[in-house]
Amino acid sequence: MVKRPDPLESTPPAFAEAAARHILREGFGIESSSLEPLAGERDQNFRVDTAGGQRFLLKISNPADDGPILAMQTAALRHIERVDPDLPAMRALPTAAGESWLEVPGPESRIYPARLFTFLPGKVTANTALTTEAIRSHGQTTARLGRALRGFFHPAADYEILWNITQFPRIRPLLTHVCDGQRRAQAERIMDRFEDRVAPALPGLRAQVIHGDMSLDNVLFGDDLLVSGIVDFGDMTHAPLVCDLAVEIADVLHGRDDAIEAADAIIGGYVSVTPLEDEEAGLLADLVAARLATEVTITAWRRRLYPDNTAYAASGEPGARAFLDAIETTGIDAVGRRFRDACRRLPYRRSATGALLERRRRALPRSPLFYSQPVHLVRGEGVWLFDPDDRRYLDCYNNVAVVGHSHPRVAAAVTQQQQLLATHSRYLHEAIVELAERLKATLPPELDAVMVVNSGSEANDLAWRIARAATGRAGAVVTACAYHGLTEATHALSPEEWAKGERPAHVATIPAPDGYRGPYRRGDEGWVQRYAAHVDDAGRALGDRGFAALYLDPAFTADGILSPPPAYLREAARRARTLGGLVVADEVQAGHGRCGSHLWSFQASGITPDMVVMGKPMGNGFPVAALVVKSELLGAVPEDVELFSTFGGNPVACAAALAVLAVMEDEGLLGNAAKVGSYLRQGLLTLAERHPLIGDVRGEGLLLGVELIDEERRPSPGSARKVTEAMRERGILLSATGPAGNVLKIRPPLVFQPEHADLLLQALDEVLASS
Ligand code: PMP
Repeated sequence: MVKRPDPLESTPPAFAEAAARHILREGFGIESSSLEPLAGERDQNFRVDTAGGQRFLLKISNPADDGPILAMQTAALRHIERVDPDLPAMRALPTAAGESWLEVPGPESRIYPARLFTFLPGKVTANTALTTEAIRSHGQTTARLGRALRGFFHPAADYEILWNITQFPRIRPLLTHVCDGQRRAQAERIMDRFEDRVAPALPGLRAQVIHGDMSLDNVLFGDDLLVSGIVDFGDMTHAPLVCDLAVEIADVLHGRDDAIEAADAIIGGYVSVTPLEDEEAGLLADLVAARLATEVTITAWRRRLYPDNTAYAASGEPGARAFLDAIETTGIDAVGRRFRDACRRLPYRRSATGALLERRRRALPRSPLFYSQPVHLVRGEGVWLFDPDDRRYLDCYNNVAVVGHSHPRVAAAVTQQQQLLATHSRYLHEAIVELAERLKATLPPELDAVMVVNSGSEANDLAWRIARAATGRAGAVVTACAYHGLTEATHALSPEEWAKGERPAHVATIPAPDGYRGPYRRGDEGWVQRYAAHVDDAGRALGDRGFAALYLDPAFTADGILSPPPAYLREAARRARTLGGLVVADEVQAGHGRCGSHLWSFQASGITPDMVVMGKPMGNGFPVAALVVKSELLGAVPEDVELFSTFGGNPVACAAALAVLAVMEDEGLLGNAAKVGSYLRQGLLTLAERHPLIGDVRGEGLLLGVELIDEERRPSPGSARKVTEAMRERGILLSATGPAGNVLKIRPPLVFQPEHADLLLQALDEVLASS
């Protein structure tokens, strides 16, 4: 590895103007009309004008500079010119002899390399003068430069400079030069954190040759305040790509009062060209802090070494200190979250929770929120949900994220399909066919026709149309507190949501098979059959309308999470069919492996429904639902009636649904639901022995209900409300269901593990003890 000397160990060369003209004439074949000396930290620079109106930069370098490094810089500039000819980077011009540089003899018989570059327009601009647009343009330029260098290789690229952020821990010995004890302690804190959480991740980041110093000294701006030139490549090295962005944020913004906020614009510009990977985004704030602490430390050290050098009086170090203080005041984790958000390119800005709540109440007055203090979420991962302060909540409630929140395989499938093709299903496309075939393969063969729609409501609504057409009848039977959807037709099938006194004439209800509270109790002789017999009463109640369909959620989620023995479904279906009705299994809640034994919960009973509805978890958060029917029923819908929905079965939705099925299989989530579900159920039963508030524990797999009661065994919805609020305080999300709202509803993503169950059980134990 080549070591680059500290620039101040050698001052810039000091060739006279006449000597420079001679170099230009003899070495490069250029006749200069005027020469203008320019400042340089380690090189001697001249602006060169010719009589013909051309302008160049002559750079006479320090003899300490190594040949291979100069060769690398020249090669890199040529590479950039080839890859991105419009990028305003300086270009290296060959000598008259076609060499990359000229070796000029100078004082003390040393050899000085002289190079000629194109002269770029624009000027060095103070950061306080930069507009948001200018800062964004800087970010974009840095990203373009990184892209242009992506395929560049040079053997000299692994040279070592103190400024390379990856070397940050190596400057620990220099910390003794930072006289101010508090300042030193700050740098140490940042370094300790860096060693802990950044250094181990660095070798795994994408790396390449980077510019390494996109500070305002090296970037020129035009009058329009857009980047017009990149002029110094002296710090190029092989390093993680994200270091370029970190250096840029630190060096461009230090000294601005709004440095943290202004970083959004740099990051926004950068990621508009090159999106960051999650790991890079997560390290950005630490890398910026490391760069700032490097500046503070190296400046202190150099001040000690060269007390007379005035260059350091005017350095950016005070700005670096202020930026570091701002980061620590805000909290480096909070800054990290902000930077990570900026990397995500979301098309909205993040507001404070209170302000967001107010906006929501005004803009969406009828949109319900859980909890007296709504939970404000910004991110999800596996079984965890995170609020803006990175407080995490254990999700024991959301079945939609069936394979875990933000599952990378589903996210990638959605993103990639969206980038490739997103259209409706009137064109031939592979994904919808593949999905339909895969779904069919999981179902009894009679269920052979698939329709892909966008929501459970839509699928149930369509099922209702088909049931009416196929039977020629108009009446439906549902359980007493069922939920099947939001549309006009499915709202009618959803007593849970009926207004007081509302009871559509074409719908009859049956009591849900509640073996704990209802008229027939678990263990009573024939209790299941007695519940099922109510289907006959309902059929009679429909009168002349006739029995078109029985809709059942086999897990009776809205009815309080009941899991009757399989005989119930068999008997209820048999009776419905005897009366000429069709059977619709609404698997929106209980399907996709939730109940642990089968992919579709009706399968435990061995019946074959006439139609199966699936939704909610189907796309792990991407809207997609489906109706699978016996094709003979479809014949009743006239051929000229088109069953089509614009978004239904679009390639993106199908890609999501296919990814969910694949992940469920690869990760064995059905088995996990059974295993962890029974562990959790056992734990809940143990709690029930200790806490009289628990009247009943029921459910299967990872769909469990805990019924809360008062001393007289009456439903206690007040306790359920208190418990869910108290659990939320402890970072655990639950809800309540059932006709009285007194049944705790536990329905986590199927990636739930025993350790998560333990967290839930322990918190519930404590909350119940204090209730
Ligand atoms: N059926 C059942 C059993 C449901 O639980 C729901 C939604 N909770 C629906 C249908 C309606 O689905 P969506 O909200 O997707 O319209």
